Amino acid sequence: MAQVIYLNGGFVSKEDAKISVYDHGFLYGDGIFEGIRVYNGNIFKCKEHLDRLYDSAKSIMLEIPLTFGEMQDVLVETIRRNELRDGYIRLVVSRGPGDLGLDPRRSPKANVIIIVEQLAIYPEEAYVNGLRTVSVSTRRNVPDALNPKIKSLNYLNNILVKIQANLAGVGEAIMLNSQGYVAEGSSDNIFIVKRGVVFTPPCYCGALEGITRAAIIELCGKLGYKLKEEPFTLHDVYVADEVFFTGTAAEVIAVREVDARTIGEGKAGPITTSLLREFRKLVQVDGVKVYE
Ligand code: PMP
Repeated sequence: MAQVIYLNGGFVSKEDAKISVYDHGFLYGDGIFEGIRVYNGNIFKCKEHLDRLYDSAKSIMLEIPLTFGEMQDVLVETIRRNELRDGYIRLVVSRGPGDLGLDPRRSPKANVIIIVEQLAIYPEEAYVNGLRTVSVSTRRNVPDALNPKIKSLNYLNNILVKIQANLAGVGEAIMLNSQGYVAEGSSDNIFIVKRGVVFTPPCYCGALEGITRAAIIELCGKLGYKLKEEPFTLHDVYVADEVFFTGTAAEVIAVREVDARTIGEGKAGPITTSLLREFRKLVQVDGVKVYE
């Protein structure tokens, strides 16, 4: 079955899915996006992802040419046409074609693109043994510049982190904010566990309001784990019993090493493992149904 891509109201092949070089998403990173998962034919946390998309759009004054309901319908239709039951959805709304100036008033028509694909980012072994990671010198965007709550197409901050991770030969990195508190990974939220208590940085520390993060906070409540949203430092990460990242693509992935310090037993700890297990149960049943 050939992959089809939603592009501004129609469905086209990957080869025909083309937009203008004058698109301000391309020229300036002017636009927003979402990464969403389909599990077992259900769009996981569809409403939450679309809420975040429309909030990002409002914040940057970008008019999405579809209503919330229409957007959900085209998501469903794109997945159906690709006959996908499990996979990843990339939903992009760019400012659209304009001239070479910055002024968004010259880009009256946004581009809406939906790409769906199979996905597997980490091998199953990584969920058991955990990732090696480092902290990096690149700091998180500050909220009074480009607010990290906006899931914008401008990911250069995150890409610089990824480059540092690559240079260190590790798969993910830890980013601090300009005050030295832990913010998040290059594209994942971070959690630590100490003496049975789960901690994650509050979003004002520079974390994206991750949808997996919110699901894990809820699962902590269900499983009876005490959860605290409070700022912490790299020291707290080094001495944690468990460290893990959360994200749509990564799900819940343990960290076994940070800056050459072994975390806990050097593999996924018991709380990380039980949260991953419960999360994987939840995704099978939660979400908007794509197929009748
Ligand atoms: N932080 C950043 C910077 C991200 O890009 C993402 C999305 N991959 C996340 C955190 C995790 O968010 P979510 O759980 O909604 O995918």
